[in-house]
Amino acid sequence: MIPEGLSHRATPLVDVYDRPLKSLRLSVTDRCNLRCKYCMPEEDYAWLPRETLLTFEEIHQLVGIFTEVGIDKIRLTGGEPLLRRNLPALVRMLSQHAGIKEIALTTNGVLLEEQAQSLFEAGLHRVTVSLDTLRPERFRALTRRDTYDRVLAGIDMVRKVGFPSLKLDTVAIKGFNDDELVDLVEYGKRIQAEVRFIEYMDVGGANEWSLDQVLSKAEILAALGCVYGPIEPVRENSSAPAQRFRLPDGTVFGIIPSTTTPFCATCDRSRLTADGMWYLCLYAKQGIDLREPLRLGALDEVRARIRQGWQMRTDRGAEERKALEQASARMRFIAIEKLRQDPHLEMHARGG
Ligand code: SAM
Ligand code: SF4
Ligand code: SF4
Repeated sequence: MIPEGLSHRATPLVDVYDRPLKSLRLSVTDRCNLRCKYCMPEEDYAWLPRETLLTFEEIHQLVGIFTEVGIDKIRLTGGEPLLRRNLPALVRMLSQHAGIKEIALTTNGVLLEEQAQSLFEAGLHRVTVSLDTLRPERFRALTRRDTYDRVLAGIDMVRKVGFPSLKLDTVAIKGFNDDELVDLVEYGKRIQAEVRFIEYMDVGGANEWSLDQVLSKAEILAALGCVYGPIEPVRENSSAPAQRFRLPDGTVFGIIPSTTTPFCATCDRSRLTADGMWYLCLYAKQGIDLREPLRLGALDEVRARIRQGWQMRTDRGAEERKALEQASARMRFIAIEKLRQDPHLEMHARGG
């Protein structure tokens, strides 16, 4: 008999480069109520067919299997995860897994004011809100929607409800919001949120990404250093994608330098799309179908696909993209025609 408390102990699984499998980004829908130019530049897309979307019971079951091999962190994402009906019910189910230490959410914030309380009560631990600008007219131009005030109201509600931490993620883009770095840091200070600047990435291919729009980690540090004075790195032992820094007044902020300084060497993340395709890298072109064996009740096959998939993993997508720069060969990642045929290839399908 397995002694009490040991039944959930995971057998660690490592890939070809000895990277463990620890975290799962769980996309619960590919739909979104914004149309950010860097992510969903088109108005309409080929959506995942509804009957293929995993039910909450199916997600719960899969997450249970993932905990057996080491997953202990879940991040709910999308598309816009708050568009998935009754998301708190899923959070409640996932929080029953003893192996899951943290359930986090990344959201655009539009529906957060209504849902923050019930998500908190359901057991959600952390919230990250994506916010790229503090200027309503820029927000409208970027997202092609007029919901800036609702995002701010959602952010306020996270604080009121009592979540212990709040992060704000900003994609830093030259010529768009590079003049707002200080404003965003100051806003973060006011509401006690940690701001994280994400380098613009070329996932997908419809977004007209180009290297000259990427505001690099070095440029972000230089710009903030000019205003605040010497910035120090926060020393910590973590596989988190954000590198954290401290301003002279103690304010901590993060940079996720995916484009100029990829962190593939320590990447312990994988992604599950809303229809049960499992991707081992943000840039992976092929996924592993977990829905098919799950729906057949072949749980050992699901386990086998997860184990074999991760053990054979050699993905280093962002590093490979960067290596192309030397040969000036960093072209559009995926052709638009291909993106239109396969919704899985888009950033909004695999959760960012
Ligand atoms: N809709 C939710 C949101 O925006 O927070 C969750 C999904 S979204 C795909 C997750 C994250 O990916 C967001 O913080 C978004 O800013 C980021 N993202 C999307 N496209 C990106 C790109 N091309 N480069 C860098 N980050 C990107
Ligand atoms: Fe913007 Fe997130 Fe929607 Fe993409 S999924 S368009 S980043 S809100
Ligand atoms: Fe991980 Fe792929 Fe991102 Fe590299 S590009 S950090 S391997 S998800």
